[in-house]
Amino acid sequence: MPGNLNHLVEELALANRILSHEGVLDAFGHVSVRHPTDPNRYLLSRSRSPLLVEPGDILEFTLDSEPVKPADVALYAERVIHGCIYRARRDVMAVCHHHSSAVLPFCVAQKPIVPVFHVGATIGEEIPFWDQHDEFGDTNLLVVKPEEGHSLARALGRHSVVLMKRHGATVVGGGLKELVSRSIFLCWNARHQLGAEMLGAVTPLSRGEIELAGSVNTMPLVVARIWEYWTMRLKASGGWPPRRGAEKAPRLLAKPARVASRGRPHRGKRRR
Ligand code: MN
Repeated sequence: MPGNLNHLVEELALANRILSHEGVLDAFGHVSVRHPTDPNRYLLSRSRSPLLVEPGDILEFTLDSEPVKPADVALYAERVIHGCIYRARRDVMAVCHHHSSAVLPFCVAQKPIVPVFHVGATIGEEIPFWDQHDEFGDTNLLVVKPEEGHSLARALGRHSVVLMKRHGATVVGGGLKELVSRSIFLCWNARHQLGAEMLGAVTPLSRGEIELAGSVNTMPLVVARIWEYWTMRLKASGGWPPRRGAEKAPRLLAKPARVASRGRPHRGKRRR
């Protein structure tokens, strides 16, 4: 496996765990990244809770969301979301679909999420809604058919986020770290918006503020700083993914302070 692909696979496993640890993904939901050298493929885990995803779980898929190599493992039912968006949006390099409790009240009430603070500018000025029932009538609300995925991609349009009625959200990014930031910031913004609306009327950032603050939030320095923060939080929780092929996860927590062994003379002190 080429070095940059190997690195991206490890980063995707990490993204799965960060998004879980930060409350975006839970037992369900998934995150993918476009293949670094073949734009007609993307990388996504086998069907597994994102908090548990390891590099060895990551598979390659075509844009029809079929595995490139036959895989004798369960696959995510809703993976067409990823393939259909990568096909429709050549600028999108990473996709996250989730059902976070932070956004679900807005999805159920069909109330817009708007950027209400500077970090929230990353979600963009407008978030469209998609109601699967409009086009497909009664379904189990899972996006599993290609036509459902294409419909969702059309609703996303040129935006960075689409809310799915009574279901969740799908977020896109120009890179994996940008996507992780936007996915987490969407949840922060939704919580702040809901909290602020309990206190009174809420007005969104202006278009100019969204552009200016949004461009700061995607600066490499800022993305690197927040990535390091989430990475260290994950490490401290003991949730670091094992490396590909590793039999067990590396030891993450600091070893307890070493106690001086008995009978060992203290150095640096001379006895008189
Ligand atoms: Mn879903």
